[in-house]
Amino acid sequence: MQMLNQEQKKFLLDSIRTIPDYPQQGILFYDITTLLNNKKAFEMLINHLKSHYETLQIDFVAGIESRGFIFGATLAYALGVGFVPIRKKGKLPATTISEKYALEYGFSEIEIHLDAFKTSNQSVPNVLLVDDLIATGGTAVAAVNLIKQAGAKCVESCFILNLESLKGAQKVREVAPTYTLLDL
Ligand code: AMP
Repeated sequence: MQMLNQEQKKFLLDSIRTIPDYPQQGILFYDITTLLNNKKAFEMLINHLKSHYETLQIDFVAGIESRGFIFGATLAYALGVGFVPIRKKGKLPATTISEKYALEYGFSEIEIHLDAFKTSNQSVPNVLLVDDLIATGGTAVAAVNLIKQAGAKCVESCFILNLESLKGAQKVREVAPTYTLLDL
């Protein structure tokens, strides 16, 4: 599996802007819009993820609303597989299953379509879960649970940024293999 070298990590990290006290006092917000509008950084990131995952037999990429949609859908296209959105409660129109969880700031609930991973054959689909950042891990653990409840296997969860002191990646590793690109 291809990994990022220190120079590539620094380039990607430098492309992400930080905003203190957003959306509330005491939170340092990692703003990935400055990675997205930097064509070299966005291309480097997607090319890396493509080469990291192209040997794993992935059937779907699932992305968490809303920044996970951007990275997840782009990666799904690059890998030539389908994309499945995991959305905040009340946004998906067909039959859903949902999970409640605690955030670094507040509470939330996410949903997935019950039939999101339907395939033409009988085998259990392999799903790669993608989000921009892992903080407490609450969102990601809920998302892995939803993937399993929808009848698929979460073969790996992947996060661009990992706020290591909050130990979220440790929590997610208990339910699925996990790859974090930039550990802070
Ligand atoms: P958590 O469930 O605590 O791991 O929170 C992860 C989710 O919240 C991800 O979807 C992130 O986009 C968002 N998030 C949490 N903390 C931050 C932060 N400090 N900067 C940017 N996004 C954050």
